[in-house]
Amino acid sequence: MADTVGPGHSLDMGLQQPWKVHRRSTAEGAKGLAEAADTLLLDVWGFSRDWVDIRLSKDIVAPLLGLLPQSLQRSHTPLLRERDLAQAIYDTYPAPRSNAPQTTPTSPSHLRDRPFSALLQQGDGESNLFFANYQPLSVIEPWLRLLASLFTTHVQPVTIGVSAHGRDISGLRVGVHPTNADKPNPPKRKTILVTGGLHAREWISTSTVNYIAYNLITSYGKTPSVTRLLEAFDFVFIPTLNPDGYVYTWTTDRLWRKNRQQTTLRFCQGIDLDRAFSFQWDGDVTTAGNPCSESFAGETPFEAVEAGVLADWARNETERNNVEFVGFLDLHSYSQVIQYPYSYSCDDTPPGLENLEELAMGLSKAIRVAHGHSYEVMSACEGNTAASSTKGAGVTNQQRGFWPRMEASGGSALDWFYREMRVRYAYQIKLRDRGTYGFLLPREEIVPAGKEILDAVLYLGDFLSEAYGVGGAGAVEGIRDGEETDEAEDEDVKAESSVGKPAHDELEDDWLVINEDEEAEMLRVEDVQWELRRWRRR
Ligand SMILES: [Zn+2]
Repeated sequence: MADTVGPGHSLDMGLQQPWKVHRRSTAEGAKGLAEAADTLLLDVWGFSRDWVDIRLSKDIVAPLLGLLPQSLQRSHTPLLRERDLAQAIYDTYPAPRSNAPQTTPTSPSHLRDRPFSALLQQGDGESNLFFANYQPLSVIEPWLRLLASLFTTHVQPVTIGVSAHGRDISGLRVGVHPTNADKPNPPKRKTILVTGGLHAREWISTSTVNYIAYNLITSYGKTPSVTRLLEAFDFVFIPTLNPDGYVYTWTTDRLWRKNRQQTTLRFCQGIDLDRAFSFQWDGDVTTAGNPCSESFAGETPFEAVEAGVLADWARNETERNNVEFVGFLDLHSYSQVIQYPYSYSCDDTPPGLENLEELAMGLSKAIRVAHGHSYEVMSACEGNTAASSTKGAGVTNQQRGFWPRMEASGGSALDWFYREMRVRYAYQIKLRDRGTYGFLLPREEIVPAGKEILDAVLYLGDFLSEAYGVGGAGAVEGIRDGEETDEAEDEDVKAESSVGKPAHDELEDDWLVINEDEEAEMLRVEDVQWELRRWRRR
């Protein structure tokens, strides 16, 4: 099954168009929209408090509008800057070389005339060919293996298992774990798991996982802070958790979301991997029980092969491979949101809520300060709910419960890792953009998106170093600034400051080196605190 560029893309996307419906935040509006989405099994791309993006075939627009309350009937606009959906899809595939003949290629055209090693040229990733385009699985797989074979001191190839259609689910383990030497009772290797591609069409999540992996790997031994980070923690990067779906987005349907498993309905394939985990699985009581739904949860928890593979692998790592997962970043797109547990319900408060929120605010700030892009912080349940503008202080859960959900939200990977694996810092991050291009984010944004999330990951590394009293903080001094210097032995980490207990007071705001003017401009601490209060329930 080839997974190459698809000029012969078979779906007639010319008849489809994503629309942004602007909510005027009336209860009636939110409810009507959720019901319509439910009834028509619509493909809801994304949503915020103020808008919902929905893909529709053009002939369904009028009937849908008929189902909506008056207030919403005129407040919709086409996405993609009114470009044709088919063209927007085509534009996300690798750029053809201008002199290359337009035939059905067996390998992406931009790679045909170059040695594969060109994809690994040194550099910060910015000038690296690999990140000039989204890459098909047939390129990602050998690229991962090549990285592992070139950087044997701190990179190992990982295969967590096999997909429903028999493809390897591959990744990299990055780290030097000197603490795990030949001691009789070695300490657990503190491990941060970074995943992408759970939803097939969210290509930017896959490219971003690769971008972060590449930059950490090539900065090791050059940038002292990264070297210390990789001594303190292992990272496991899995860029394509749903390889069957990912390949399908390259060959057949660019907008496919689920895996490719056969269901009980012949014409409705695929299970939504992010609804398939066992914690608070709710496929039996929600519309996620319909195989034709984009959120189909399977008939039973873990029926979806890839979800089961990830869970089994993670369990095995902790039980037999001396691993302790301390961080989980599940990358998705789109809407620029950092979400923390729980996904399944807003009525259950995660035990580590304040820690989760604090780190999430820090991640958001790291992105905003360095790149000017704002990522909202919220609990995943709120991200799944068609919330109103009246949420916040003074709104009870009963009132909030009135607002309907845009998606089923049990059985998520986020909740499962947080609760079953006890990963204290677990997040789902929805990457760029906010709906201009949605899933069809242009390839020019691969590197900028990678950079901003890399900064967030470095911040996370610092935060966890402090929290667990290991390694050296200071990674956010930045990979790009950190030229080869002597390894500063400033390992005066306050080890007594609570192993396993976050020492938040010590983190303060000393995590970025910026000048005072910028600081005044960008670090509006009171804004952050306000946001924090705004999102904290009760
Ligand atoms: Zn997703």
